[in-house]
Amino acid sequence: MAVVKANAYGHGAIETSRTLIQHGVTRLAVFSTEEGVALRQTGITVPIIVLGPIFQEQFGDLFAHQLTPVVSDPSMVTVLGQAAASREVAHSVHLKIETGMGRLGLTQNELAALIRSHKFPPSLRLEGLMTHLADADGSTPDTTEEQIRRFNTALKLVLEGGFQVPLIHVSNSGGAVRFPSAHFTLVRPGIMLYGYHTLPDTVTVPDLKPVLSLKTHIAQIRTIQPGETVSYNGTFTAKCLTRIAVLPVGYAGGLSRRLSNRGYVLIRGQRAPIAGLVCMDMVMVDVTAIPAVAVGDETVLIGQQENEQITAHDIAEWTGTISYEVLCAISPQIPRLYHSS
Ligand SMILES: *Cc1c(COP(=O)(O)O)cnc(C)c1O
Repeated sequence: MAVVKANAYGHGAIETSRTLIQHGVTRLAVFSTEEGVALRQTGITVPIIVLGPIFQEQFGDLFAHQLTPVVSDPSMVTVLGQAAASREVAHSVHLKIETGMGRLGLTQNELAALIRSHKFPPSLRLEGLMTHLADADGSTPDTTEEQIRRFNTALKLVLEGGFQVPLIHVSNSGGAVRFPSAHFTLVRPGIMLYGYHTLPDTVTVPDLKPVLSLKTHIAQIRTIQPGETVSYNGTFTAKCLTRIAVLPVGYAGGLSRRLSNRGYVLIRGQRAPIAGLVCMDMVMVDVTAIPAVAVGDETVLIGQQENEQITAHDIAEWTGTISYEVLCAISPQIPRLYHSS
């Protein structure tokens, strides 16, 4: 089950989903009902699970578009069951168990009460049981092993309660690679599909290739005198005669403002440092050290150019975040071009 929430981690949910399905993915996971509806409207027919919380206002869309909600609290089981009661076939749902993430899910007690009450609505089909790992990429496996133990206890309770649950799923990317005991019947990778991971060095990771490049072109080049400044608030001051290139992308496009005076881009196979504050739709870079640089030159913000590379992981390091945030920050308004390799 491929996780394509947040516009497929910035890669474009529709094209990415289509490609994943072509390559054998049988199920998709999104965060919201709206994301699921958008995929259905482009003709995607594989089962789609909605990982995030659901609200009564969305029941109509869930039913109309055959989206599978994850139910995380006992009262929602009842309310959704009532809403589904007038339908001809039972609507599939997955139950989420809280095992240590401290976010969504039924506690062991809530689950036990639900099973023992014999009040699971006949209008719902318990298709899946799941939990989410909080520390699959942590420095030690201990927390995850405890989560898997708790999940197995919950699974036993459900099976002993007489439910046939065909889909059992626990692992995100990190869990899928690091904890074979958490594979069950499905895994839910997200970040690794896109070529990144956050696992510690002690874990052997498959050979991953970043999928996405982010590129622009130089819009203007100017030479400034020593003492002259660049961008808002004059946080960059030229120390010598300096060549500055203007790029038409900024924080509205997803280039974090925390890259101001610290990040790099690639031009003519060389790293050019960001000069001054990143603006909303523009950023300036120092190209003094790059000979023959010209207006129109391809500029790589993420990706490879000649022998140099900048990854979303590098940007994450420069800005104190993770590759996930760098990728899904790329605005949907930036055109995506898809190449088959
Ligand atoms: C986002 C998410 C995943 C995927 O996680 P990755 O670390 O990107 O592999 C899996 N399951 C749930 C519930 C998620 O929210």
